[in-house]
Amino acid sequence: MPIQLEVRDVAVAYAGKPVVAGVSFMLEQGAIGCLLGPSGCGKTTLLRAIAGFEPVSAGEVWLQGRCVSAPGQTLVPEQRRVGMVFQDFALFPHLSVEGNIAFGLRGMTKAERGARVAELLDLVGMKDAARRYPHQLSGGMQQRVALARAMAPRPEILLLDEPFSSMDTELREALAREVRDLLKGDGITAILVTHDQMEAFAMADQIAVLGQGRVRQWGTGFGLYHEPADRFVANFIGQGVLLPGTVADELRVKTELGRVAGTQPHGLPAGQAVEVLIRPDDMLYDESSPRRATVVGRAFRGAEYLYTLRLASGTQVLCLVPSHHQHALGDDIGVRLEADHLVVFPVGDAA
Ligand code: ADP
Ligand code: MG
Repeated sequence: MPIQLEVRDVAVAYAGKPVVAGVSFMLEQGAIGCLLGPSGCGKTTLLRAIAGFEPVSAGEVWLQGRCVSAPGQTLVPEQRRVGMVFQDFALFPHLSVEGNIAFGLRGMTKAERGARVAELLDLVGMKDAARRYPHQLSGGMQQRVALARAMAPRPEILLLDEPFSSMDTELREALAREVRDLLKGDGITAILVTHDQMEAFAMADQIAVLGQGRVRQWGTGFGLYHEPADRFVANFIGQGVLLPGTVADELRVKTELGRVAGTQPHGLPAGQAVEVLIRPDDMLYDESSPRRATVVGRAFRGAEYLYTLRLASGTQVLCLVPSHHQHALGDDIGVRLEADHLVVFPVGDAA
């Protein structure tokens, strides 16, 4: 697939103060990328630079093989063929659903416009609501219309800034999956901005984790969860605890819960003090295990309990246990570490 978007070493500054720096990534045609990170890390700023609303102070943005942003040179948004959907996606209240979708379709004959609107109404499942007005629609329906309106002119790239953040958690994930199917169905390249990892996992092919204006890691949801590149990503994605350990050999680390083995050499010398990432699903409840831990916290999750366990050293770890086992706070239970991956960070390394 040809490259649709390339962001090369981009920095964006407000009043001379950079808030985003050294950002590089590429997106193939039809791919869905995501900028994921905590509030204030620079996601919207980066998206606005890609759209042409903010100039870059360093680096370049390329859209479809054309340089659209460089320092001192910013192609205006209207000439980039980008579509945007924001959190407060404000439909035109005085226009019907079809009026809203047709809004950006200039330079088409009436028949062509009608055909494109019909196609999108069908795509977003709003055919029966074509003549209705925004105030007659639910939030989820309005969001679908906003999406159809942005997709209608066939933008080179669709930029979505926290488009589901005003919705309930459950609806959000369902909508993210639905929107993914819509974009894939129409072959549209898109970037989703969100602080919600479940939304990112549900929608994106590739995710950039942003922290303090920098890309910490670029990968799939699976890769970010199982092979976080640094402590920031390890803490931000999923749940887990960093357990102290010592490097035994190039594939193994000793911890108070036993040895943890990986399949790839970690490149650290034997004897090096490290921290090992232990996810809740790496800790198994096993009454026959000689290793004991004390239950100091528990959260009911329906099918599972998420226990916080205190080990002999005082270190706490998380452990998922099917909820037909019930342990009380203060109980001593048997545990076994069964990690099929090894994520280690050297102690003393600030990253
Ligand atoms: P995010 O979308 O990840 O929450 P933003 O890109 O909105 O983050 O903001 C990144 C940083 O830039 C924040 O510290 C914010 O206060 C600052 N910022 C955003 N917009 C402006 C602006 N127009 N002028 C000055 N500072 C801004
Ligand atoms: Mg934002």
